[in-house]
Amino acid sequence: MIKIQADMIDPYETVLTYIWCSKKISEGSEIFSLGVKVKAGVDLQGMNGRAIRLLLPESEKIIKAIVPAHDSMAKKDGNDLLFAICSSKCGEALKLALQSDLNFIKP
Ligand SMILES: [Zn+2]
Repeated sequence: MIKIQADMIDPYETVLTYIWCSKKISEGSEIFSLGVKVKAGVDLQGMNGRAIRLLLPESEKIIKAIVPAHDSMAKKDGNDLLFAICSSKCGEALKLALQSDLNFIKP
């Protein structure tokens, strides 16, 4: 069993603080989400339906993730963690960083 080191945060706490590129997002700009799967044996117990703050040690960034609830569409689509991103390009960069910084993310 792999325990994730993360702080629980208020899901309504602004996503923009923890967006990957720290780009300034103006009100009304579109925000996309990146969904990732975690490896087998990763313990997300008690985090479902919650927002967490993850430290990416290599990238020296803190990023917010949503752990979808068991009955959510995101979970049914196979996502274990969701991240707010500004564009698909940003999402690709984030996904690479997640894979290199966090050993529990599935490639
Ligand atoms: Zn971005």
